[in-house]
Amino acid sequence: MSDSSVIAANLALIRERIARAALASGRDPAAIELVAVSKTHPAEAAAAALAAGQRVFGENRVQEAKAKWPDLRHSFPDLRLHLIGPLQTNKVRDAVALFDVIETVDRPKLAAALAHEMARAHRRPLCLIQVNTGREPQKAGVDPDQAGRLIALARDEYGLPVAGVMGIPPAGEDPTPHFRLLAELAARAGLAMVSMGMSGDFEQAIACGATHVRVGSAIFGAREAP
Ligand SMILES: *Cc1c(COP(=O)(O)O)cnc(C)c1O
Repeated sequence: MSDSSVIAANLALIRERIARAALASGRDPAAIELVAVSKTHPAEAAAAALAAGQRVFGENRVQEAKAKWPDLRHSFPDLRLHLIGPLQTNKVRDAVALFDVIETVDRPKLAAALAHEMARAHRRPLCLIQVNTGREPQKAGVDPDQAGRLIALARDEYGLPVAGVMGIPPAGEDPTPHFRLLAELAARAGLAMVSMGMSGDFEQAIACGATHVRVGSAIFGAREAP
């Protein structure tokens, strides 16, 4: 099989697994959005997924997305791009211009910079608050105890379009308690979007209430080690 038929077949399989996981939890499969994580993979791989009907993509680096996506967006104006990696305040202008959803809002300074840029650019990508449910020092995300405060600050004081929460459970741990905590934080704040679950655990995330699963290697193949 060619690379693009492998990607199409992988996508079909992931969509089927999402539907099965949703039905197993009594959920509507249409309520779960697949975010295809194309980071490190070339534009040709993203184009193959687009040709197979995929429209929602995740990238973790602003510079890489800026090189890969503008041409594809021109051909597919309905595609939606999620930023799933850490955002530095000096990249906020590019991020607001490029992305439809910014999943990694995790500190007041970033929320303020986004509010400022959205007002300037007249563009309002949805924002998710990234929560570091495992309190891992090397990982981005707000402490779970501070999440409610950051949501209130970003949404109510800065007026950001905060739509939900996002998280990445610690590697090598049962992700279920982390997924439950994320769903609970979203529910408590009245937020609809819960972005959680990757190639290895998206079915568990769906069982815990994920509305967005971020799947990379199971669609596009393994990435080179960083
Ligand atoms: C890379 C990445 C993913 C996708 O991971 P896979 O294991 O390849 O599915 C999901 N979420 C985030 C935040 C990532 O950085």
